[in-house]
Amino acid sequence: MTTNWTCEQTESRLIDYLDGLLQPAELAAFNAHAHTCERCAPLVASVSDLLINLHALPNLETPPRLVYAILDKTLGPRETVTGWAAVLAWFKNFSLPRVAYGTASLATTFLILATASGFSFFNSLSSFPMGYFKPSFPFLFPFGFNFK
Ligand SMILES: [Zn+2]
Repeated sequence: MTTNWTCEQTESRLIDYLDGLLQPAELAAFNAHAHTCERCAPLVASVSDLLINLHALPNLETPPRLVYAILDKTLGPRETVTGWAAVLAWFKNFSLPRVAYGTASLATTFLILATASGFSFFNSLSSFPMGYFKPSFPFLFPFGFNFK
């Protein structure tokens, strides 16, 4: 048991004491010191009262758009992009390497799958719509895909 509990320990462990996180030996030493020390007793009493009063306060309803109001007050009002500017701003995402590589990868995958399923850019227009797909890999279309 810690018998030489100091005022500094009281200050540093006060929150743990109020949260009930002190071990039994620490709690006994804390109580022994805090109830007898002229300096620590008023500190513990005032912080305890403050905490009790804070917990007694009623919960307030969160105002609508609180986050946006805080952002407007701290960062300043932000521009709202609408119309064609919004479309252009969306396409600017493709200048990001991550998005560009992802899009290129998706397009390549689609092209490979389309080619493997028999799609031909050169034949598709002349024989549209019946010859649009000419499956050359039957395992891709096990139930048949014959439009001819
Ligand atoms: Zn003290």
